[in-house]
Amino acid sequence: MLSDKEQKKEFKKIASKNPEKYYAVGYLKKEGFSRKQCSKCEKYFWSVNNNQKVCGDSVCSGGFRFIGNTPAKNKLSYLDVWKEFSSMFKKFGYTPIKRYPVVARWNPTMEYTIASIAAFQPFVVSGEVKPPAKKLVIPQFCLRFIDIDNVGITGAHNTGFVMIGQHQFVERKEWDQNKVFGEIHQWLRKGLGLPNEEIIFHEDAWAGGGNFGPCMEFFSRGVEIGNQVYMMYEQTPDGNKELNIKVLDMGMGQERCAWFSQGCATIYDAAFPKVMESLYKKTGLKTDEKLMAKYIPYAGYLNVDEVEDLEKAWKFVASKVGMDVSLMLVGVIILGF
Ligand SMILES: [Zn+2]
Repeated sequence: MLSDKEQKKEFKKIASKNPEKYYAVGYLKKEGFSRKQCSKCEKYFWSVNNNQKVCGDSVCSGGFRFIGNTPAKNKLSYLDVWKEFSSMFKKFGYTPIKRYPVVARWNPTMEYTIASIAAFQPFVVSGEVKPPAKKLVIPQFCLRFIDIDNVGITGAHNTGFVMIGQHQFVERKEWDQNKVFGEIHQWLRKGLGLPNEEIIFHEDAWAGGGNFGPCMEFFSRGVEIGNQVYMMYEQTPDGNKELNIKVLDMGMGQERCAWFSQGCATIYDAAFPKVMESLYKKTGLKTDEKLMAKYIPYAGYLNVDEVEDLEKAWKFVASKVGMDVSLMLVGVIILGF
């Protein structure tokens, strides 16, 4: 069987050739979005801006551009993100449910709950076990040890975070991809208060826990706000099999959403304002605000998960900040306490 990474790559090629079949093209066109290809990474994306040449990824579009300058009209605190999201989705017919444990004892494909959908893998997704509700939203605490190296460096990663999930487990005849896509678009427009001009959707593919399918990632000002996955297939030793039920898997970081809507310097300031205040006080450490203002927009370039040549990436960011790599390390590593 292919690894998740190989499966994702393989399926992305198939979905890109037939966007009408795999993405909510009808809804996007109705809203004035058109399909484009990024001049840097060649990814297909959707934007309402005729002159948009690059996708929304921070590396292609020039870093995070919402710090101190967020386009979100609604500033949401960490707790407000879930409150507003769950109340909007309740009106769309979703049932808000409580989170599952972080030790994924029901899930033979992983040790820890790394995503909201992990709460329902593998047996709800395969249709063998009934979900708590056919349409639900969940604030799932997730552990991602793989992100440890990014904590304190990118300003955007945590080892533990809440993934807000929008999920559906429905029969094929009940599935309406334009509708579920429209719901997340409504969240971006009315929940965060973003105009269409500030939203970019990326066509992508997703694979995890033995399942895969197409997905739409949504970006604004260089930051990925979330990803809506349409799980269609299951990897089996006998080949790929279409799932018996249609599964919707939208995941969005609660901390990231608060950070983006507030436009503050780091995700830690948005999610743990009191803890940050207390830590600064106790340690006597101070951040160099001028340095951080120059560094943070480019911090996303240092994501160890995505960068091939880390040394080159650090040199590039240091040149943008206007200082030597070793000095910049000393200056920004304070974030990593
Ligand atoms: Zn790109």
